[in-house]
Amino acid sequence: MCVYCNKIITGGKLKRHIKSHKNTHAEVTEILKKPVNEQNKWFEQKRIEGIYKYNIDNLDTLSSEQLLRQRKPKKQDEIRMCGKCKRFVSNRTFYVHKRKCVESEPIKKDAIKPLLTHKDPEFVTEILNNFRDGEVGNFIRENKTIQMIGYKHFCARKVEVSKSKEVKREIMMEMRELTRLFLTFKEIKGETCSFEDMYERKNLDTLIEALNKLCACEGKDSEKHGLKVNLNGIIQKSIKTLKRHYSGVCEDEKHKEMKKFAEAYSDRTPEFLAKARYATDKNSLKKARIPKNLPDKYQLSKLRTFIHSEITSVVRDFTIKHYSWLRSLVVARLTLYNARRGEEGCRILVEEFNDAINDVWTPANSVESIEDPAEKFLVGQYKLAYMAGKGKKYVPVLIPIDLLEAINILLANRASANIQPENPFLFASKSSKYACSGWHAVSDVCTAAQVSINATSNRHRVSTVFASLDMSEHDRRIFFDHMGHEENINKENYQCPPGVRTVKVMGAFLRNLDEGTHSFIFY
Ligand SMILES: [Zn+2]
Ligand SMILES: [Zn+2]
Repeated sequence: MCVYCNKIITGGKLKRHIKSHKNTHAEVTEILKKPVNEQNKWFEQKRIEGIYKYNIDNLDTLSSEQLLRQRKPKKQDEIRMCGKCKRFVSNRTFYVHKRKCVESEPIKKDAIKPLLTHKDPEFVTEILNNFRDGEVGNFIRENKTIQMIGYKHFCARKVEVSKSKEVKREIMMEMRELTRLFLTFKEIKGETCSFEDMYERKNLDTLIEALNKLCACEGKDSEKHGLKVNLNGIIQKSIKTLKRHYSGVCEDEKHKEMKKFAEAYSDRTPEFLAKARYATDKNSLKKARIPKNLPDKYQLSKLRTFIHSEITSVVRDFTIKHYSWLRSLVVARLTLYNARRGEEGCRILVEEFNDAINDVWTPANSVESIEDPAEKFLVGQYKLAYMAGKGKKYVPVLIPIDLLEAINILLANRASANIQPENPFLFASKSSKYACSGWHAVSDVCTAAQVSINATSNRHRVSTVFASLDMSEHDRRIFFDHMGHEENINKENYQCPPGVRTVKVMGAFLRNLDEGTHSFIFY
């Protein structure tokens, strides 16, 4: 399509056609005075703009196949718009485009409109665009209410840079489950109904029926307890969001009704939720305590030796090929050493690491004041980093100094490993925003070392060992802090975390554990 007169031009005649505008449009006159290769670039750009304009104008009426694009597809495919350069490309060949167009993102057809109209394009590209095509995804991209619910959650959580992947997953999961619930609700009701109808008292029976149906195990008398507890949480949250939203946009009647609905819903929860709640609580308590879920001591020491010798040899003969392997080794060691959950250890930010290196949390004068020479030595064996945890919490991570050389290699080679400069993570993945996966790192390293351990079972092990030790109340508190347990210690966020003490107590404990010099109740 010609961007000047909106005429559709086919058969490669667009250049000739645009030239015919030279008397009416100054930029056409200007470009014709330029060298040929510059002209060609310019005409190509006009072609892209024309296609874009035509497609956007006809987004609602044309199907995916009818939209214009640079190249006709050979096989059946889906159309994608590049979020960066606005070209229309096939989903089959988008990866080719991605090589030329840095940080391009394929936007699905029905996410294009929200992208143009939504006040936060990030929400569209990060969330809406990532739902798969299908009944659920299409509904979400169409429905304003569910988008609003997701968006509120997105706004509240998107500041959590170090967890963006999890946050995104969680928000998408919620939107997806809520939509599945609505589709079931609609099916039972058997008539046309809107998403908001789900939140009316007169439809409460239908909502509960839909919930039960969604959680039923086919052909069996039992139900999916975990799903039910989860869905209940999602519904409760959406009720709150809607209620606040109605208040915010001055829909007082709806707000009032929503308040009543919330009460009615809570009133009914015991009858459909009690069983599921009981079962899930019991299950998680049981799982956590079974001794066989603890990794054995022999496996851990085998893993430790393996990681150590691999790091030494990779560091000695480092080439860029080894980058991701070295990253996995370091992440695995940090994760297992600090007994973090799989996805926690890998999310240290470069900034948090730099603070650790500069001893921000363990200033030299307070280290000087340690009297016991053994303790003093121990403190010198670590760098202490604090990661942003849940809410106002900080999670301490001890970095053994023998890892520093490897970490510095990772830092120095970021550019050659194609890591985007704006990626804030110490253990960055190639995308611009994410850390590498801690779980994969641990699992890859364990596979290579031929041991079976995962971060969760290691965490249980540390807790169990701890339970068998005689620690003072004070040290116990530092321990809980380190593990990021829900031990409610009221710590204001302006308070400098007591770094030196953490290193002293936790360093000794983790080191003994690492070297296997403790004796444990389960072995
Ligand atoms: Zn024209
Ligand atoms: Zn592009």
